[in-house]
Amino acid sequence: MEGGSNLIGKGYSDTHYLDALYGLIQRLSLSNPKRQELLNEYNRIKAGNFGEKVVMNSLEQLQLPYQFYIFHDLYLSIESHIQIDILILTRYYAFIFEVKNIKGAIELTDNPSQLIRTLPDGEIHVFKSPEPQLEEYIYQLQKFFQNKNIHIPVYGAIIFPFTSSFIKQSSNKTTVLQKNEIKPFLRRIVTKCDSITDDELEYLRHSILDKHKEFIPYPLIERYNIPREDVSNGVICNKCNTLGMKRLSHYWRCPNCYSKSSKAHERAIYDYLTIINNKISNEECRKFLNIKSVDQSYRMLKNMNLIKLGKTSRVKYMLPYLNYKSN
Ligand SMILES: [Zn+2]
Repeated sequence: MEGGSNLIGKGYSDTHYLDALYGLIQRLSLSNPKRQELLNEYNRIKAGNFGEKVVMNSLEQLQLPYQFYIFHDLYLSIESHIQIDILILTRYYAFIFEVKNIKGAIELTDNPSQLIRTLPDGEIHVFKSPEPQLEEYIYQLQKFFQNKNIHIPVYGAIIFPFTSSFIKQSSNKTTVLQKNEIKPFLRRIVTKCDSITDDELEYLRHSILDKHKEFIPYPLIERYNIPREDVSNGVICNKCNTLGMKRLSHYWRCPNCYSKSSKAHERAIYDYLTIINNKISNEECRKFLNIKSVDQSYRMLKNMNLIKLGKTSRVKYMLPYLNYKSN
């Protein structure tokens, strides 16, 4: 068999949702009751990203005797919306990885399907089991391939990428792997002569990327039902996190640590577009950044690689990827 190489179908990327959540937490009034929920969500996604990054790095070094593609973070709408952490696509099979960065002693139970973890201090947490979801994703991806008249098996595994998770008990229903087991496991998969052609593999790769739609949970105040007045305006200092940098003629200055920045408004505008409203006008921008000059606000928005909607004085700007929503 010829040697193959791994190719990146869709490379690792941090989710922009994490940055947006961070911005919201920084700007949220201390009295808002959603604060803890948002912090938990932020920590959960951050840990998830970190785990996925580690698994992606390990897969990028993997060699198999045949070519394969690796995809990170796919949002596919087949029978329902599914979010696949990592997918490997080969001429012989597809493999879904559900990555769990959860510390502690882990038990996966059936009936009810639960993931129970016990921390070293004895504290127990119960999570939804990833097993039924993985089973569902395998089913739906299989269906997606069949609809394209392509027949390769779809497998799946739950990955615990860090040694800080200790698998006490798994349910035998699903393959559970730790990071160092991934490569040997994939090498052992039996590839019979039946396979799709290179052209079909390319076709599937394109079909998957076509089907992928960015996850757009914005604006976050709508998603989390947060009153607008609970979210502060202003520019945040990226050195000391103080809100309320002051605009001088050509830069921003922090009133707390006195550091200077010429681009601190970009993060603020990004926050506005993900947290408060998907679109921003010149006037809304001035109000949010607390600046007076129409020209200054115009230049800031114009230099940010945003999509321009409408013309003349009514023009609004939005983030390029938010445009996916209307597709
Ligand atoms: Zn500062």
